[in-house]
Amino acid sequence: MVRHSLNTLACDEWCRHFSSSSGANTSHNTNQFFYGPTQLIDLKQESTMQSEYTSPEAGGTTWPFFVFLAGAMFCLLSSSACHLFCCHSKHLNIKLLQMDYAGITVMIITSFFPPIYYIFQCSPHWQIVYLTGISILGICTIVTLLSPALSTGKYRSFRALLFVSMGLFGLIPAIHALVVNWGDPHRNVTLAYESIMALSYLIGTLFYVTRVPEKWRPGWFDLAGHSHQIFHVFVIFGALAHYGAARIFLEYRSTLGCNK
Ligand SMILES: [Zn+2]
Repeated sequence: MVRHSLNTLACDEWCRHFSSSSGANTSHNTNQFFYGPTQLIDLKQESTMQSEYTSPEAGGTTWPFFVFLAGAMFCLLSSSACHLFCCHSKHLNIKLLQMDYAGITVMIITSFFPPIYYIFQCSPHWQIVYLTGISILGICTIVTLLSPALSTGKYRSFRALLFVSMGLFGLIPAIHALVVNWGDPHRNVTLAYESIMALSYLIGTLFYVTRVPEKWRPGWFDLAGHSHQIFHVFVIFGALAHYGAARIFLEYRSTLGCNK
């Protein structure tokens, strides 16, 4: 029966591999690692897995994934609007820059939803604790960013500190998830994606705070290559890495579900 189970899964894996898009192959190929030996022997669970395996998106809860996508799109839209219209006037420039940073904050908040929801799917109380925590921290950041008194250059480091705090807050559920899923073989893949995301946000924030390279050569980077543009590029890198991780989380829960 175990051999039959393995053969069926191998067939499903093969079929899905050739019917899926090339962009998702990386995560599909890791699916074979999602099933531990004890889960393969569990015949009751096998039937659940097979019934959900044909369509990963249809089998799992997708809303946390789309919350993140909506946040990322809002971020890119607000940034585009900001940089398109910021030459209008000084007053509008300040307002749009506030929206620019608020958009990035929204993306950071929403990026917590897929990993926390899927990792702690079997422990709803931890979902509530972590998602409420990051939402409150994010709302405080947005209020600060939109406050005229705190939008001046004097509070630049304070604003950067808020961004870093949100990133550091992510360490708590990340360490918790590592401890809980230490034996899970696909831990390394998601950890690599999320580490790239964290590193991207951190490097982007460093450029934002230090104002490199324009402070070294004032006037040289007024049109292209200044710190704010580099900051945005790293935010996009971070979002792409997180998208990769979110897809793995989504497929993981779609195929395995919560069996506790
Ligand atoms: Zn910007």
